[in-house]
Formats: sequence, structure tokens, C-alpha cells
Amino acid sequence: MGSILIVIALVVGYGTKRVIQTRSWQITGDLVSRVETDERVVALTFDDGPTDADADAVLDVLADRNVPATFYVNGKDAEQNSSTMQRIIAGGHEIGNHTWSHRSMVFVSPSTVADEIESTDEVIREAGYDGPLTFRPPHGKKLITLPMYLAEHDRLTVTWDVAYEDWSGKPQSSQNLTDATVEDIRPGSIILLHPWFGRTTTQGAIGPVIDQLQEQGYRFVTVSELIR
Ligand SMILES: [Zn+2]
Repeated sequence: MGSILIVIALVVGYGTKRVIQTRSWQITGDLVSRVETDERVVALTFDDGPTDADADAVLDVLADRNVPATFYVNGKDAEQNSSTMQRIIAGGHEIGNHTWSHRSMVFVSPSTVADEIESTDEVIREAGYDGPLTFRPPHGKKLITLPMYLAEHDRLTVTWDVAYEDWSGKPQSSQNLTDATVEDIRPGSIILLHPWFGRTTTQGAIGPVIDQLQEQGYRFVTVSELIR
């Protein structure tokens, strides 16, 4: 009997972990991690922040190449770094909601979900952004209350299919991160990078990733353009 319970606990535990972590499916509501297409189009997405101190390192590279990106911002950082928000908007980029505080959205009450998302929407709209506003959960993780809120409010969840753990210190150099990112790209890919908070390794990879993919004939679009 004890061993059966252990097996059941393992199965349930494993299943729940899968539901939390999988980036291509959630329990309810629409989720996109990439788009099926033969066309060489990709979307570049940047998570967290923004941070004014890193604005030049991120936004100048995009402006120089005339490449649009999608920024999944945290409300608390967006509020404190409003000049970078203004630059993102003026640059014609897309903005997405990545929660207010970047807390885990796995075991959370419906009211916490609503607070985290709605306060962030407000800051983004108050900054003057009037474009599409998709949602990306912190660490891509979700379970029940978050997808239910998103489905009820008709919000699209956007994850990614190309990332090389640049948040964890895994890439040893910008070259390393560039190579790993470019290698994983397919038509319709959604690339995730974390360039804020002084992450110079990631910042140094943005230009080379764009240049190498453009040499391969790829075109960069925002997430909403990719989905359309
Ligand atoms: Zn994040």
C-alpha cells in the first residue's frame, strides 16, 4: 500500500511539474511558443526590466539595425525606468506584460494574479503605449489560476522556443551565447534574451545574433506580427 501511494505521489508530482514547466502548453487559454511557417521570420524578445543604465546597450543596437523587438517588462521596473520605456515606445517596439514583481505565478491566488497583471498593464498604458499587450509568465511557469485569468481576459500567453539560459550564467561569452542562439533558430522561432541589469554577456550577443540571422535571410518582426 505504501509503495502504491509513493508511485501515485511520484506520478502526480511529475505531472504537475510538467504542467508548470512546459513552455508549449497550458491548462486553458491560448499559448504560443513559436509559429509554424516556411518564411524566414523570427521574433526577438527581451525579458525583465527595463533598466535605464542598460538602455543604450540594448536599444542603440536595435536602432542601428532598424530591428523591432518585443519587451516583456516588469511593472515595478517599468515604473522606475520610465525614460527607457519612452525610448522603447518611440523606437516602435512592442511591449508585453511580465508581471509587476516577477514573483512565481504558480501557486498564487486569483487576486494576486489580477494584481500582478493589471498593475503592470496600467504602467505600460500610462507610459503611452497603445499596441498589443501579450503576457509572458516569469520563468515561463504557470499552473491553474494564472491560465484561468488569462483565458477569462482573452490574453495570449507567449513563451519562447530559443533560449540559452543567459539568466543563469551558463553562457561564458557573448560569442558562446550568439553561437548557441543562432544554431537553434528555425523559421517562426521566438528568441528569448535577458539583457537588463548589467548583463553585458547578453548585451554583446544582440548585435551578432541579428547580423548572423540577417545574413541567413531572416527578417525580424514583433511577436504580434509573427503571430499574425
Ligand atoms: Zn523574467
